[in-house]
Amino acid sequence: MGLFKRKPKTEMTIEVLQQVLEECRGRVASLVHVARSLLFFLKEFSLDIVEIDAEGYKKTIDAIAANLREDASEKDILRSLEENKLSIVSYIDREKAYLLEKEKELKNIIELLRSALTDFMGETQTFNSKIYEQNVRMEAITQLDDLRKIKESLRAEVSQMKRIIQEKQQKDSKRIETLSKEVVSLKSNLEEVQAAASSDALTGAYNRMAFDTKIQWCVERNAVIREPLSLLMCDIDDFKKINDTYGHITGDRVLKGFVLECKGFFRSDDFIARYGGEEFAILLPGMPLKKAIKRAKELCVALAAKQYLIDANRPDQKLQFTVSIGVSELRKDDTVDSFIGRADQALYRAKHSGKNQAVSEKES
Ligand code: GH3
Ligand code: MG
Ligand code: MG
Repeated sequence: MGLFKRKPKTEMTIEVLQQVLEECRGRVASLVHVARSLLFFLKEFSLDIVEIDAEGYKKTIDAIAANLREDASEKDILRSLEENKLSIVSYIDREKAYLLEKEKELKNIIELLRSALTDFMGETQTFNSKIYEQNVRMEAITQLDDLRKIKESLRAEVSQMKRIIQEKQQKDSKRIETLSKEVVSLKSNLEEVQAAASSDALTGAYNRMAFDTKIQWCVERNAVIREPLSLLMCDIDDFKKINDTYGHITGDRVLKGFVLECKGFFRSDDFIARYGGEEFAILLPGMPLKKAIKRAKELCVALAAKQYLIDANRPDQKLQFTVSIGVSELRKDDTVDSFIGRADQALYRAKHSGKNQAVSEKES
């Protein structure tokens, strides 16, 4: 009888313990999520400044985030934090010092502008004093009795006044023109340098480096904010044959043509990049898999229907090319490699099922 009484009591305790364990696991998972999100915010908050090694700081944050797994031991998590704490604090100090330094530089620039303005005001003062002298002479004219003399003097003074004002206007507008030209050229130089660093010289698409940065950012953001994002890995079919048949220059023109078609086909905030050779990666923010595969199929059809003139003097000779596409959608626990990997597999499938088609990750 005694045994019967004790058994249910033990089962209850195990059940309760299991329930508590589940709750703890849930709490650990949400704490890990919160900590990861905070680390992501810390990274986003830091300014991309090479001089203070922002890159190193971001890598340190990544190292802590990598150790923040639900199955990691408390000891490992704390050790990773302890090991990297000093380096984070030192980065924050460096960033503060850097911003202070920049503030000082800005103050110097303001001071420079202020003194330039004072010089300019000095010129205006010369102008004012010339006008004042003229007023004095005008006053003297009013004391003349002879009307003829008054008329002559007035004419002379008015034409001098016109000259002084014209001189000043010319000087001012020349200075403004030069300054605004300088500002415009500086701005466009800066934009050109920025664009050149992230674009592929041949096609004008984003280059591989820009793509790697963008997709890494998308994956990190995805861990915190979930929004649909699809990836199209595109590979031009039988491109070697195009080169062999028409030459490399025509091959290059096909690559340019492909990017041009894509720019017209996708939205302006879609990200078209040359992944390498005749392979292109296209990121479609806000687009779920179903819609992305539909667009990819439409792109295949649109490209296959086009005919390109190779030589203006030979209108009979036309070139056509097709493309194969693999499509994947970013998942919750994706890494850059897994996200690209699924699109690559789908592309492989598209190639091996006859090319000139788009295949979804679900089919591969
Ligand atoms: P598949 O349909 O299986 O993709 O075959 P493919 O011929 O397109 O692929 P393959 O990898 O055999 O050949 C790709 C060729 O692309 C080889 C390489 O010389 C050429 N290529 C890579 N970059 C450029 C470039 O910038 N300009 C030109 N003209 N050709 C390039
Ligand atoms: Mg290829
Ligand atoms: Mg190819």
